[in-house]
Amino acid sequence: MVSIALAAIFGLIWGSFLNVWIYRIPIQGLSIHSPHWSFCPCCQETIRFYDNIPVLSYLLLRGKCRYCQASIPVLYPAVEIGTALIFVFLVSRYANPLDRIQIIDLIRALMLATVLIPIAVIDVQKYIIPNQLIITGLISASGLNLAESIIHQSFFIFSRYLSWGVVAGVGLQIIAVIGKLVLGRTAMGFGDIKLSVVIGLFLGQWQSLIMVLVGAATCGAIVGTIALTWRQGEDRSRIPFAPFLSLATMVDLIWHEQIWNTYLHLISWPV
Ligand SMILES: [Zn+2]
Repeated sequence: MVSIALAAIFGLIWGSFLNVWIYRIPIQGLSIHSPHWSFCPCCQETIRFYDNIPVLSYLLLRGKCRYCQASIPVLYPAVEIGTALIFVFLVSRYANPLDRIQIIDLIRALMLATVLIPIAVIDVQKYIIPNQLIITGLISASGLNLAESIIHQSFFIFSRYLSWGVVAGVGLQIIAVIGKLVLGRTAMGFGDIKLSVVIGLFLGQWQSLIMVLVGAATCGAIVGTIALTWRQGEDRSRIPFAPFLSLATMVDLIWHEQIWNTYLHLISWPV
């Protein structure tokens, strides 16, 4: 129970930190480190610590800046609450302090969520996947894979993750080229291909890559069809792909065994 409460508090604070990434990273010339303090994007006034408490400050200020009364986007508390819920779920699923493997799985899941949440939100808002987040994903996945290799004293583990990272990138690049030839337009951006390398490095097995690709493509096709029906204009079929890749990745990371075994059972493959 204590670990769940700590996960919720840590998730809210971490979500607040991810909001800084989401706001600052896509803006050219704005560093995520400086200024150290948060500021109102409208009046540039520094936000005091008591106005910067996750979710609570948003409610107390009724969603408005204390100084200029500009609306604070509901996205901020939504990211904080979403991150907290994901952290609570992951900790309740993996946390077993006696089990070293589960702890590594938990760290892997928390790191992956940390990279995928801002990537998904920024792609929805701006149709871009910033390189800083891709590099963060590549470094954190490689570091974790190396640590797992050292713990298990097997370099094979590191090379396996690395291989599937490369395969994921090359595979999605081939699919993107074929898609462009068939559809006559760019169906997948280079950002999605770079993201697939990060996902491959984190998941490290071909079954997961297939599940992520099939899951993301299916969700993307459904949402794309709905968008075509409801939206107006030339750009109406354009949808960001990173949220679907991110969602499918988290689902695979958490429920891989169950979904894969159900699939094998459905096609009557002896498990
Ligand atoms: Zn303001």
